[in-house]
Order: sequence, then structure tokens, then C-alpha cells
Amino acid sequence: MNFKSIYNTSPYPIRVMAASLRGAYLRLWRYGWGSEKLVEEILDRDYWSIEQWQTWQENQLEKLLYLAAKHVPFYRDLWSKKRRGGDRSNPAYLDNWPILKKEDLRKFPKTFLIENYKYQYLNEEHTSGTSGTPLKLWRNHKTEQLWYAQFEARVRRWHGLTRKDRWAIFGGQMVVPTTQNKPPFWVWNAGLNQLYLSAYHIQKENLKSYLEALAKYKVVYLLGYPSALAALAVLITEENYHVSPIKLIITNAEMLLPKQRQLIQDAFQCRVINTYGMSEIAAAASECPFGTMHLWPDTGITEIINKDSNVPVQIGESGRLICTGLINSIMPLIRYEVGDMVIKEQAISCSCGRSLPNMGEIDGRLDDLLITKQGRFIGRLGPIFKVDLPVKEAQIIQENMDLIRVKLVPAEEYTIDTRQTLIGLVRERIGDVEVEIEELERLPRNANGKFRTVISKVKR
Ligand SMILES: [Zn+2]
Repeated sequence: MNFKSIYNTSPYPIRVMAASLRGAYLRLWRYGWGSEKLVEEILDRDYWSIEQWQTWQENQLEKLLYLAAKHVPFYRDLWSKKRRGGDRSNPAYLDNWPILKKEDLRKFPKTFLIENYKYQYLNEEHTSGTSGTPLKLWRNHKTEQLWYAQFEARVRRWHGLTRKDRWAIFGGQMVVPTTQNKPPFWVWNAGLNQLYLSAYHIQKENLKSYLEALAKYKVVYLLGYPSALAALAVLITEENYHVSPIKLIITNAEMLLPKQRQLIQDAFQCRVINTYGMSEIAAAASECPFGTMHLWPDTGITEIINKDSNVPVQIGESGRLICTGLINSIMPLIRYEVGDMVIKEQAISCSCGRSLPNMGEIDGRLDDLLITKQGRFIGRLGPIFKVDLPVKEAQIIQENMDLIRVKLVPAEEYTIDTRQTLIGLVRERIGDVEVEIEELERLPRNANGKFRTVISKVKR
């Protein structure tokens, strides 16, 4: 028996203990004695002048580019290849660096690690990214603490919250097996003061117990995928339920559609704010109390370039988001193509007084919701691709209530066993359905050059 099956068959108090231990471990990684000071410094920087930001970014960038060109194998090889080809350009200028594709990161993850990484404790992250490409990423303690200080400052503190407040989260973790049809559909994580709600059990019959849990655990704010929160909001409105007061709802990981925002706001009677980020931590943004999506210039340097050429786009045009991360110096990602399209916006000065630039609207990252035979809405299925499978890219299509089609591009190590594992993973989430796997050389793209990870052809 592995850990997961022991957890799944354990009574609730044992699950709470397991989740809380994990939470306590994560807390040690994410926060330390210096965290509060970091938060204060970040909140101060929010009011810097444009010139101050420019000087600061140039400074950070200079160190980063030097480090990468000299001590990171992937980039060192890239520059020596350039030199052999007669290219004498200077690595000190960002413009001279090529665009980094996700595929390079997927294929050679360890070559992005700085050469002395063996002497540090690293945290390994698995992610599906935004396009379904599975990635392996590493962070050290310093990076983790910087990142969580930024989140604390610009998500919680901006809205009068702190990490000491009790909160609930809808995420991709399967905290409750889908076969379970009685509450609790959550687990309390005392280590992070967090109620982890299953995103896989949102259906009419379970609505009352979800809302009771939010009240019982005195949840102050809620964080989750817009798709999961909107599914819950629809049920609350349909069933005309009363929700105990929530201070704020924070959405992440997916694009927040205006319709979803309205639905969630109406059902919970509270403010909804959106955030932007990715596990690669090469860029981030969050909404301020005045509704502006502010970029975080100390997380990364961002560019928006044309989809076919590497030319910056004009205001009003949509282009590829390219990011150079500034906080993970043990795994530098330089001019990294995240996979999102963004519309370049005119710079505005926000009434909140912060000098942080406004981020343009995301122009593609639409994951559809799937629906199970029991009427459950399943949001982002990305976690399936977080499992270490030899798959380059994948797309899940719900053809009808009985058939799920998975289109994928196999990696070299792909075998018949991979197929079976994948079928199992899909059924674990969606229930007893036919799963058809199609191995392809390339997956179809939308007009904007991207493709959708999840498509539902089922009419609501
Ligand atoms: Zn603002």
C-alpha cells in the first residue's frame, strides 16, 4: 500500500493529521524569521518611482544574466555555441538572449540548475504549466521565502488579510477520493490554517455540507480556480442558500471571466480579486482594491512580443508573454515563453497610488469545465499531467457524458503502460466513462497559436 491509498482509507482525524504535518513542513519552507521584514520591504517598493524600479531591475538583471551565462549549463552551452558560430553579441543585454521555449525546459530541466546546486536544499515542484506541458522545477529556501512574502504582501495585505487568517482553498489536490459520497469533502490543514476543499465533489447534494464547513471552520477568505468557484456559485444561486460572511475571494491558475466574477460575487456577497502567476515564478500580478491588475516588477521582467516575430507589440495588440524571472536565481529562466497571450495596455496611474505597472488582459487560457454523470463539475484537469508521465503535451476532450478523448503527443519513454495509467487517472476524477487515447505528432491550436487543455462538447 502506498501513502495515497493509506490516506484515502483513513478516518477523517488521520487525514487531518497527515495534511497538517504536510502543512507544517510547507510553512517551514515558505516562511522564516526574515519573512515579515521581506513583506515590509515589498510593500515599500509598491510606491517606488518608475526610475527607482528601472535602476533596481537593471541591477538584478545584470547579476542574473552574468550568473546564467557563466554558471548555468544550458545557457553556458548556448553562448559557447553562439561564439563558435561567430556571434559576438553581448550577454549583458537581454535583447541578445533567445526566447526560451517550454519544450527546452521540459526536455532538459536539470541543465537550468546553477552548477553548485548540489550544496543546497532544494524543493522540487511538478507542474502541468498552463498548456499541459509537464515540467520539473526547483527552488531553494530563499526563493520560496521571497515568493511567499510577495504573495503575503500583494495578495493578502493589500486587502487587509494576513497568513494568520483562516482560509479555504479549492485546488487540484485530491484530498478526498471521488468514490466517497458522504462529507467531509475537505481536510483541515492546521499547519497552514487552511481548509482544503475537494474541487471534485461540487454537486447539488453536497452543497449544504460545503457551506456548513466554511462556517464551522470560520473561514475568512477563499482561494481557488474560477471554474470551481463559479460551479459552486451557480449551485448557491440555484438553491438560494445563505452563505456565512466571507471577506474576500481570490482566484488563481485560470483566466477569470467577467461572467464568473459576477456569479461568484453575487453568490458569496463579497469582493472577488484575480491573480496571475505560474509555478515557474517568472512573472506575477494581482488586483488592488481599485480593481487594477498590477504586475510585480520584482518577480520578473515581462515583454509582450508578436506571435510570429520577436518584435514588441503595439498598444491594443495581443502578443506572447515573455518573462525573465528575478527571484529564482538557482534556476534562472531568461526570456521564457509562458504560453499565455496578453493584450498590451496603455499605462495608467492607479488611484491606489502604487507605481506598479498595470498588466494587460490575458487573451487565451480558457479551460472548459467537464461534467460527470452525477452532475459534478470538474475544473482544471491539469493535475493529471502533474503526474510524472512521458507525455509532451495533452488535451482532454469530453465528447459526451460517456466518452472522454485524450489527445497527446508522446515523449520517447511513452509505453502501453503510460496509456493505462492515464486512463486510470481520468476515471479517478470523472468516474466510469469510456476513455479513448489518441497519440498524435502535434495537437490542434486555436487561432492565437495556443490550444485548450480541456474542451467540453457537452451542452449544459
Ligand atoms: Zn492600484
